[in-house]
Amino acid sequence: MMDGANTPATAPVLILLGPPGAGKGTQARMLEETFGLVQLSTGDLLRAAVAAGTEAGQRAKAVMEAGELVSDDIVIAILRDRLAEADCAKGVILDGFPRTTVQAEALDGLLSESGQKINAAVSLEVDDAAMVTRISGRYTCGACGEGYHDSFKQPAKAGTCDKCGGTEFKRRADDNAETVAARLEAYHAQTAPLIDYYAAQHALIGIDAMGEIEDIAGKLAAIVKTATA
Ligand code: AMP
Repeated sequence: MMDGANTPATAPVLILLGPPGAGKGTQARMLEETFGLVQLSTGDLLRAAVAAGTEAGQRAKAVMEAGELVSDDIVIAILRDRLAEADCAKGVILDGFPRTTVQAEALDGLLSESGQKINAAVSLEVDDAAMVTRISGRYTCGACGEGYHDSFKQPAKAGTCDKCGGTEFKRRADDNAETVAARLEAYHAQTAPLIDYYAAQHALIGIDAMGEIEDIAGKLAAIVKTATA
């Protein structure tokens, strides 16, 4: 249970829905910086578990490499533990969770235990065909996580991160054309039904997410401001 004296029941909870490559991570990181909300990415948490060799990580590794969804029990447990950490009381942006109806129901249950609710589930609407190109060229700074892309966003000085000066970059093992196809399929079969789920809760907001990163960030900022007003 949360401490009611320190934790406003209104701490915002936002969900970013959308297929791989829609820009959920990029936008969540921007919202984190602008509003002090905490980005909760189950993909990042799972990659950390794989790198650390935890039991959950070992169970998840092959599934992630195949572009399929990790089992609900693993992901819900990871999310529940992270959500219970003190910083999440500031409010959270969920990036990549929930991805199934079972996860969405579990989230509703976890939030209601602490008197919270979802302020908005924002669906980033994109053109599937463009996602393969977007994902295939992306990479991040190994030190600060800033995102780059072979075609769309290279560092100003080649080989040096614009944000932190880091010189090590990394690409995700699952950011290749074959795995992306499986990830898109998983999205349409298992995650897209959540659009109706949140529409039924009157929490759904759809935005066109094919434009410039800054324009989409502006639309999301307006949504967060309304949600936190
Ligand atoms: P992401 O970084 O969100 O693209 O996630 C990378 C991979 O981690 C996905 O393709 C899944 O294999 C796994 N994953 C991340 N979040 C979830 C989730 N909520 N449910 C199931 N699998 C997930």
